[in-house]
Amino acid sequence: MIANYHTHTWRCNHAEDTEREYVEAAVARGIKTLGFADHAPYFFDGDYYSGFRMKREQYRDYADTLKALRQEYADKIDIFIGAEMEYYPKYFAKTLDFMNEIGLDYIIMGQHYMDHTESWHAYKETEDEMVLARYVDVVLEGAGTGAYTYIAHPDHINFRGDEKIWHKHMFRLCQALKEMDVPVEMNLLGFFDGRHYPRKDFLAIVKEAGTHVVLGCDAHSKQQMGNVQIAQEAMKWLGDIGIVPQKQIPLRKPVILR
Ligand SMILES: [Zn+2]
Ligand SMILES: [Zn+2]
Repeated sequence: MIANYHTHTWRCNHAEDTEREYVEAAVARGIKTLGFADHAPYFFDGDYYSGFRMKREQYRDYADTLKALRQEYADKIDIFIGAEMEYYPKYFAKTLDFMNEIGLDYIIMGQHYMDHTESWHAYKETEDEMVLARYVDVVLEGAGTGAYTYIAHPDHINFRGDEKIWHKHMFRLCQALKEMDVPVEMNLLGFFDGRHYPRKDFLAIVKEAGTHVVLGCDAHSKQQMGNVQIAQEAMKWLGDIGIVPQKQIPLRKPVILR
């Protein structure tokens, strides 16, 4: 791996290690392009405050810390300031504006919930086509804004129903993403942990649709940064399916174009 765009930090309350520790781990493992995509703060209504994202008050320090490290490590590695962000249409523009004002190079979509109430986690097993269809619709609507650089773990949606229905909606997703030129991630954290994603039957659909693929460490600790053995096993998995992942991808400006 020479690039990783999916790195968390201690700031989100469920990951460990400082920005500097991740940078040093990445340099040690030969990564040349390092994107931080910690869980974005979000502007919700009322008193709901997410416990698994950085707080809004922390964003400036996050960006400033990365800007300083970018200078300091300039001869060793390229560092980018990003965020992993759900697509919640109601709050999306306001939250993006806030981060762009301070400093933001790109965002990736990590859609863990069905909507902004965050009462319905997508990893909950379902056989309901309506749920799968809705998830795909939300991801496509978000990708359609033009703001997202890639889609993290699109197979987070834990559909366990009919194979044909899975194929129908995931092919629709992959085809549209290909047309928009938005890559999908093979998530190495899920791979390492033996989670329900990445799914081989999803990646087969990705291959069929011709959507671009990128490996993402989704590092929540410095040990998960650029782990060579994991990356090799993942490459073998992809090789069996016939997928060659992109080594590096262009970053999209995180602004709403459409
Ligand atoms: Zn996380
Ligand atoms: Zn993540």
